[in-house]
Amino acid sequence: MVTEVVKAKELQKLDPVFGQLSFDNHEQIVFCNDKDTGLKAIIGIHNTVLGPALGGTRMWQYNSEWDALNDVLRLSRGMTFKSAITGLNLGGGKAVIIGDSKTQKTPELMLRFGEFVHSLGGRYITAEDVGMATSDMDLVRTVTPYVTGISEEKGGAGNPSPITAYGVFMGMKAAAKYKFGNDNLEDKVVYVQGIGNVGEALVEHLSNEGAKVFISDIHRNRLEEVRDKYHVTIYEGDNIYEEDMDIYAPCALGATVNDSTINQLKAKVIAGAANNQLADEQTHGTQLRERGIVYAPDFLINAGGIINVYAELENYGKQEIMRKTENIYNTTLEILSNAETNGITTHEAAFHIAQSRIDARKKER
Ligand code: NAD
Repeated sequence: MVTEVVKAKELQKLDPVFGQLSFDNHEQIVFCNDKDTGLKAIIGIHNTVLGPALGGTRMWQYNSEWDALNDVLRLSRGMTFKSAITGLNLGGGKAVIIGDSKTQKTPELMLRFGEFVHSLGGRYITAEDVGMATSDMDLVRTVTPYVTGISEEKGGAGNPSPITAYGVFMGMKAAAKYKFGNDNLEDKVVYVQGIGNVGEALVEHLSNEGAKVFISDIHRNRLEEVRDKYHVTIYEGDNIYEEDMDIYAPCALGATVNDSTINQLKAKVIAGAANNQLADEQTHGTQLRERGIVYAPDFLINAGGIINVYAELENYGKQEIMRKTENIYNTTLEILSNAETNGITTHEAAFHIAQSRIDARKKER
């Protein structure tokens, strides 16, 4: 979360919306409030040049409204580039609901949120994110068609996490090919940080391929469950960053590559599912490059989920979902070599290609 980057007090000194550090030429920001249901939400529409702004809704107990605003600004911007680099005709958007999803999420609150989404007439299309389940999207679907990530029983594409994990696996293999000359992950030491929905599915792919997998999580019972299922090793230490490893796969929170971890990192490749892994894209991207650590940009390799929900809008099936997700391998290789040729960070290379697709479409208009 943005708290790790900028402290709330510092955020408050800035102009309230357009002056926030995470504000990036966003088209529209919608504040949704409903006293009866307790709904406090913010919808960020970053860019709609390539299509409607699609991105999930996150429900989180933010420390402050500044944190919530900055999170939605950062996440919605990320969605613009994720869809653009993946070749989807979608813009970037995201929503956050302020509150604890375990205690404050009620059907009434979700329906009211759905009505706000509906009022935007399709400029923003929602889906699930942290704190949301497929069943919540099914509920929102009863008040608006502008929702994806609904259950297979209701005609949707279902849980996106296994597809996200497959895309991360493809991106990781491409990064390994680039760094080690071979994409076979057998015997490679891989640390997966966070074994939730995506992390666990990634562990499955890795262990099927014979990688030496270490797992970390804040929940001991999850660790034991996943260890027993896939015969992997629980990381018992207290500083994952300084461990000797081939690949670090952040699959929990963002901003884990930051001022304090960057010089400890011994990984040769970073490839994971978490959004916004670099606390500062420019500074930390450059430092990774200087240290010879190959970073597979997060917004490129974790696009499996959006490919999955896009299928609901474009009516394509599982086969096409898998084909598009598998293609993350080729795009990652292309980006990594583009970065080297042009002497820029991998993040910049991915960003420039995404931005040029948006600029070209703007010119066509
Ligand atoms: P999840 O909530 O199911 O899993 C996250 C896991 O991380 C949990 O098991 C949690 O206990 C663990 N965790 C939290 N803090 C930790 C810490 N400090 N150290 C170790 N583990 C910690 O979430 P998910 O759906 O698996 O998503 C994982 C990441 O990937 C998130 O950042 C999410 O935004 C991103 N992502 C997910 C998808 C998707 O399809 N689910 C798509 C794109 C990006």
